[in-house]
Amino acid sequence: MVIRNVRNFDRMDTIYYEAHKNLYINLTNRCSADCVFCIRNFADGVYGYNLRLSKEPTTEELIGALEGLDLSKYREIVFTGLGEPTIRLDVVLAVTSWLKSQNIRVRLDTNGQATLINPGRDIISELKSAGIDSISISLNAESEEKYNKLCRPVHKNAYGAVLDFIRQARKAGISTRVTVVNVPEINLEKCKKLADDLDSDFHIRALSEAASKEV
Ligand code: SF4
Repeated sequence: MVIRNVRNFDRMDTIYYEAHKNLYINLTNRCSADCVFCIRNFADGVYGYNLRLSKEPTTEELIGALEGLDLSKYREIVFTGLGEPTIRLDVVLAVTSWLKSQNIRVRLDTNGQATLINPGRDIISELKSAGIDSISISLNAESEEKYNKLCRPVHKNAYGAVLDFIRQARKAGISTRVTVVNVPEINLEKCKKLADDLDSDFHIRALSEAASKEV
């Protein structure tokens, strides 16, 4: 079943959508990176959903829209979409707390740059307090040099920050998954080894999944 939310928006904005028995939340089209493989460069969305937002949803609009759904039928609710969710960290935290108050499983899909995007905040503690169950982090390369070439981050030292973010999440006991996009430039074996060293699950995404971040 296709779900689209149309309330309170200038045009048909998709702020959540259904796939893989999950519900995905599309908070923003902004990002702190510009990955060469990002689907934003090639399409308007995934699975036939146009994920371009004419307006970013507020916490109240999002919760108001989710309230009408039977959320218990989904495996998990996932912050993802056509942009980086932690650019809207306060919305992620508030909506996660609301979902967890109903015992709904919640995952964050992220580029792992939250500490650079939101300097001075203890992001992992805040996510843990909100009740986040798991985090999927796009690592995308086995070295900083390749990461910078492929992901073109806005912030300096982003690769190190991403690795730290994963380590901190594991230290806090949050389940983590490291993902890479299957492009010829990267060494999948080395990335898998890195994921193992980071005590994280490992997932290879097809190029067509890039930026949808789900599965
Ligand atoms: S693939 Fe993800 S991290 Fe990279 S530019 Fe797109 S939304 Fe940002």
